[in-house]
Amino acid sequence: MGWGGGWSSAGGMFGGSAQAASGRAGLPFGGIPSELMEEATKLLATEPEHPKSQIHFTQRPSEKERQRLTLPKLLKVYPKWVVAGSALVIIISLTLQAGPLLTEFAIKNGMERGHRSLSVIVVCALLYLVLALASVYFQRLQVDVTGKLSSRVMHDLRIRVFTHFQRLSMDFFTDEKAGVLMSRMTSDIENLQQLIQDGISQFALQGLTMVVITAILFATNVTLAAWTVLMIVPLLFVFTIWFHQASERGYLLSRDRIALVLADLSESLYGIRVVTANNRQRHNIRNHRHVVGAYRDANLYTGRVNAIYGPSTAMIGILGQAMLLGIGGHMVLTHQLNVAYLIAFFLYLNRFFAPIQLLVQQYNSLQQGRSSIIRLRELLQTEPTVDEMENAVTLPALEGRITFEHVNFGYSPETQVLHDIDLEIAPGESVAFVGPTGAGKSTMAKLANRFYDPTSGRVLLDGIDIRTVTLRSLRSQLGVVPQEAFLFAGSIRTNLSFGRTDIDEDEIETAIDVVGLRELIDRLPEGIDTPVHERGQTLSAGERQQLALARAFLARPRVLILDEATSSLDLRSETVIERALDRLLEGRSAILIAHRLTTAQRADRIVVIDHGGIVEMGSPRDLLAAGGAYSTMYGAWLASGGRDATRAGA
Ligand code: ADP
Repeated sequence: MGWGGGWSSAGGMFGGSAQAASGRAGLPFGGIPSELMEEATKLLATEPEHPKSQIHFTQRPSEKERQRLTLPKLLKVYPKWVVAGSALVIIISLTLQAGPLLTEFAIKNGMERGHRSLSVIVVCALLYLVLALASVYFQRLQVDVTGKLSSRVMHDLRIRVFTHFQRLSMDFFTDEKAGVLMSRMTSDIENLQQLIQDGISQFALQGLTMVVITAILFATNVTLAAWTVLMIVPLLFVFTIWFHQASERGYLLSRDRIALVLADLSESLYGIRVVTANNRQRHNIRNHRHVVGAYRDANLYTGRVNAIYGPSTAMIGILGQAMLLGIGGHMVLTHQLNVAYLIAFFLYLNRFFAPIQLLVQQYNSLQQGRSSIIRLRELLQTEPTVDEMENAVTLPALEGRITFEHVNFGYSPETQVLHDIDLEIAPGESVAFVGPTGAGKSTMAKLANRFYDPTSGRVLLDGIDIRTVTLRSLRSQLGVVPQEAFLFAGSIRTNLSFGRTDIDEDEIETAIDVVGLRELIDRLPEGIDTPVHERGQTLSAGERQQLALARAFLARPRVLILDEATSSLDLRSETVIERALDRLLEGRSAILIAHRLTTAQRADRIVVIDHGGIVEMGSPRDLLAAGGAYSTMYGAWLASGGRDATRAGA
């Protein structure tokens, strides 16, 4: 982030922060000093032009995005690179195998009695050298080509997976551990990159080398080639089958265990405050040692399998050579074979085993790549549970009537959370949901902005079933202020203009005044351009809430859904926030999940929810007069000195 942030604020170096600094010193900003101007212009001239990127995001993926993820389809996008890479692999495997042929030729035509010729030997040696150099050059080219190909393919895939995340529904992100999703984007995509960069080309190269060598052996002498193949191949086959099974097992083990390591790591880092506060460090280390140890054991197993297979195949090679010496030597003595051919055979046999050793090294990366692509494919095939209908329409500008019509809902089919909710909120009306923790208040809010769909019944906005409209048009008219305001790394300004991109300076200034942030902004070194740290850790809880309210205010939604923060605020912040809330609610329909009954008291209507049903509903005054659930809750709340209302009601 450090560099990214540095560059993006480069404009601010000349403008923003210098301006702020001179502003603090009470001086007007005089522009870039003339002695620096030349340097600055030069620097700007070297900056590449970045055209404004055009991003087309639609909730429903295009035909292309729906395609099943396979390696050939990923590669197909770059046909030129694939053809160039394949051609290079063929050329390399041919140039590499010319050596023994040249040796054989030099012995037969330059060294044997009656054929002695220094010039033949010299020409062969030179040709050997040239071909070796050529193959080095082609290998360099090939690494370059596959490197570029894999980087491009992975870039595309990263964007595709990220875009898919943007489409998935809330239940997916609740069910999947963040660490696991991160590993899709990191280790899985890297495995695939490794596979494209080295794995496939090495496999093709080594496989082709073995084919070329076998063909040359048979062309040189069929009898000797047949003996060699008969001696080596069956043994090699048996060992390879064992290796395949054993390393598959080892691979699956280490794959599962690294997932546990990552999940444990991400959870520990995310919850580090809780860990420290509860003195759980020792326990945490012990637990992590356990998962890391299990991962090490899996790796040790894979190491052992490789250690057995590698030397075993080398041994088969040596056995083959010994037998070749016996059989070939006999054939030379009985004049069935020229000694030059025997030497070429030996050289080729050596080379026949080199690819096997290399394939062993590549085998794991092949397996990793294969299962990574399966996992990524599964991920890309996950359908969002809250999806857009094919013929979804744009939601027209809302008046703001919200209707829950016989709504039933459960996060899982076994447990129902909401039971037959019937509720109508008039345009401009603010309704506070109150009730004990776990009653279903947030769930109702989540249904209203379609984070989830009801299992039965309907949620309507101005009489339109929200399942029939596009998600974009729906959410552009709904403002959501969550309990924990999430701030992104960036400046306060970027965090405020999150919901709309066309916000002008005046609007931002107004919003800052409305939510009472003026004092904070004036105090900060760079005002509204001051960076906030990830998740707003450098701001107080109250300030984060004010920012969230300002963000909602700027988005100008027709309907507001606000989950009030439970954290208790000091009296002053509370007053500021309540005033901000009043401004925010002006003329808007709103659902307020009220944790403080002072907030509920300010709403037009209160709906008391318990065990997933509405137990009482009416204006604050009527409910207090009625002496029902709300007035009991209110009494308890007053007695407790105004603590969290959800607990008062429980
Ligand atoms: P409230 O906002 O009134 O405190 P919620 O609407 O958050 O209550 O929760 C209602 C019930 O649904 C609770 O029993 C809670 O445990 C359950 N619940 C909330 N979110 C989920 C979820 N993502 N998956 C499964 N159950 C959930």
